[in-house]
Amino acid sequence: MSAEKATALVLRAVEFSETSYVLTLWTREFGRISALAKGARRPKAPFDSALDLLTVCRILFLRKTSGGLDLLTEARLERRFRPPHGDLARLYAGYYVAELLLSLTDEYDPHPELFDLADATLVELAQVRLPVAAIVLRFEWMALRLLGHLPLLSACVECATPVPAAGRVAFSALAGGVLCPRCRGGKRNVISLSAAAIEAMSTYAEPDHTPDAVPDAARWKTMQLEKKTRAELRGVLNNYLSHLLGHRPQMHDYLGFLGQ
Ligand SMILES: [Zn+2]
Repeated sequence: MSAEKATALVLRAVEFSETSYVLTLWTREFGRISALAKGARRPKAPFDSALDLLTVCRILFLRKTSGGLDLLTEARLERRFRPPHGDLARLYAGYYVAELLLSLTDEYDPHPELFDLADATLVELAQVRLPVAAIVLRFEWMALRLLGHLPLLSACVECATPVPAAGRVAFSALAGGVLCPRCRGGKRNVISLSAAAIEAMSTYAEPDHTPDAVPDAARWKTMQLEKKTRAELRGVLNNYLSHLLGHRPQMHDYLGFLGQ
């Protein structure tokens, strides 16, 4: 075993014995890890309250060399996830961030930028500046980008012909992006999207600092969407994520309001 230090976000805590938890942590340095926190359920636990769901903490852990669980030896609280009291929408959105990190990432596959994105998303959710729906969309699209799952939106995913965002555009979750009129024929599960939806998707997936970015780099923050475009966006993303994960995200049951 070797001792490691990391910054971690608590994604899940499962009771392991009368006194211990098994934690799933999303760390900036090592990606997702599972660690046993011995004695964490005792009243005077060595970890204080640093292990609550969605808490960011600095941890020290012993890494198992083969199989088994890592062993958490220290956790120091950095930041707690505190949405405004009684704001269930923001709370559920936080749980959804945890669910996506759990299901889209692999153990010991670090993505520091995705850690920073998740951290920034939770901070943004706890404030009341931007609508929850926009914060969630931004997290989803950027997470897809950072993990290499971003659907192709500007060119046909089959033949690379540019597909302008005009009129109606064919989109296939199965193929992984938009299809030109020639390639869409005979394909199953193709949906038709408005140009506005395609443009909104591209905006949400835009990195903060593209090389030739115009000064209003964070365009997603000020973008106004029509109600029907927002519903369309939710539909296509729900469909795409379900396809990617092989199941419907559980938190979607609680997040129906996002498409309204
Ligand atoms: Zn094509």
